Parts: sequence; C-alpha cells; structure tokens
Amino acid sequence: MELGLAGRRVLVTGAGKGIGRGTVQALHAAGARVVAVSRTQADLDSLVREVTSPSPQLCRLLGAEPLVTAPWYTQCPGIEPVCVDLGDWEATEQALGSVGPVDLLVNNAAIALLQPFLEVTKEAFDRSFEVNLRAVIQVSQIVARGLIARGVQGAIVNVSSQGSQRAVTDHSVYCSTKGALDMLTKVMALELGPHKIRVNAVNPTVVMTPMGQAAWSDPHKAKTMLDRIPLGKFAEVEHVVDAILFLLSDRSGMTTGSTMPVEGGFWAC
Ligand code: NAP
Repeated sequence: MELGLAGRRVLVTGAGKGIGRGTVQALHAAGARVVAVSRTQADLDSLVREVTSPSPQLCRLLGAEPLVTAPWYTQCPGIEPVCVDLGDWEATEQALGSVGPVDLLVNNAAIALLQPFLEVTKEAFDRSFEVNLRAVIQVSQIVARGLIARGVQGAIVNVSSQGSQRAVTDHSVYCSTKGALDMLTKVMALELGPHKIRVNAVNPTVVMTPMGQAAWSDPHKAKTMLDRIPLGKFAEVEHVVDAILFLLSDRSGMTTGSTMPVEGGFWAC
C-alpha cells in the first residue's frame, strides 16, 4: 500500500532504540525526512550511520569496504538527530522550540520503571509522568502550533500500550501513564480536529526491544503474559511500525481519537 509519506517531515521521539528506531528506519525508507529525537547520542550516531550506509551487498558489488565515516553520515539530509532528555522541560524547549516545520509526529519515547504497588516511589512516579505524558504534551504543542500557524493538516501518533486498559503486575505507574495517554489522545483529537490534525494511539503488547527484554526475559514471567494473548506470541517491532505508519498516512484520513491495539487479542479477553 502506497502511504504517501515521501517528502513529509516527521519528528520521532525515542528514536535511539526499539520501536522508535524501527519507525525512523521505515520512514526513511518511505522517503520521509525525519527529526530523530533521543537521549543517548551514541544511539543517534549509529542510527544515522545505519540508515545512510550502503548495504554490505552493494559494497561487495562495488568492491568497496562497507565503512562509512563522519562527517558524511552526520550530514545525511534524510535524518536530523536531536539529542535531548524529554523529561527536562527547559532542555526540550531549547532543543525543539525552533525545530521548524514538522508535518507528522510520533510520540514514542517512554520509560517503564517497574515496582510493586506498595513500593512505588515519588521519584519513579514523577519521572514516569514527565517522560511518558508531560513530554507528549510539550512536543505535541510545539508541533501542533507550527501546523496551525502554517495552516496545513497533520497527524500525531502516540505510542501507548496494551497496559493502558488492562492491569499488569508491578506496572501501576507505567499503566497509569499509558491510561492517561489514551485519554490525552482523545482530548487532543477533539481539540485539534478542527485544525485538521488527527491524533491516534497505538497500543502494542510486549515487544522484545530493550524495554521489553528488561521486563519479560524471564520465561516463567513471559508465559503468564503469553497465556493472556490469544495469538500466543509477542509483537515484532514491524507490527507496531506498520500501525504507526498507517495512522500517520492519509490512508487513515477519517480516523482520529482511536486507540489501535497491536496486542494479539489481549484486549479481547
Ligand atoms: P526502548 O527499547 O526502551 O526504547 C525507548 C527509546 O526512547 C530509547 O531510545 C530511549 O533512549 C528513548 N527515551 C527514553 N526516555 C527518554 C527521554 N527522557 N528523552 C529522550 N529519549 C528517551 O522502548 P521501546 O520498547 O522501543 O518502547 C517504545 C514505546 O513503545 C514506548 O512508548 C513504550 O511504552 C511502548 N511500548 C513498548 C512495549 C514493549 O514491550 N517494548 C509494549 C507496549 C508499549 P535511552 O535508552 O537513551 O534512554
């Protein structure tokens, strides 16, 4: 399916690892220009290098070494890396306040600080809501104000979780941030719809990214989750990326305020 994303400028948060990284790679392959925002500079460097490197196969055909050196890769026209801690309001304002025209936004960055409910700390609560919810509001404001000022339509995808609507042990704060994100998605859709900005969420099950591995590597623990998923498996990064790209594209032009499950049927149970 042609998604018509070529030439669009897309901002992706949490671009350094996992689902965000996969989203940047897919958007770049689709011809989009990407502002890749993340917290670890080394991840952004390797992402830009990876996306812009000629494939090993092409190098072999050309008889060249598959070696790419700075500054060529750091000036890749398709990817603009921005290194910032989105939990820091002032630093985010400084890094993204003058980011320029952005057509599409993926709010993907999040953290999962798992604690039993009786041991939840103020620090974990504050940090989780700063990154998982407050940053979504701040970055979306920056992008939406720009879209409205330019008078162009846009789309925002918030990466939520299956845990936004189901209880998961040790996830009280994480699930709360994602439940709040689902509702934020709906209110943003309500208020931004008249400006022709669509806002949707994707709600994945476990994906074995660094975040997923930290929580679900123990096979016994993984089984307790797999037993709740009718398809009997976790999602791949590509499953989530496909849903994100669809919701960014005009192919979902009549969809806003939705929470799209990518959870193998977890919500059906
Ligand atoms: P991940 O593997 O931990 O990657 C998250 C990325 O976001 C990393 O590059 C991380 O950078 C970045 N990030 C985190 N905090 C940041 C901050 N304060 N400022 C800037 N960047 C920050 O996570 P993932 O599994 O890809 O998750 C992506 C999204 O999917 C999240 O919203 C998550 O809640 C959601 N999700 C994940 C799963 C799962 O099982 N993996 C399931 C459902 C939903 P650093 O590593 O440098 O901090």
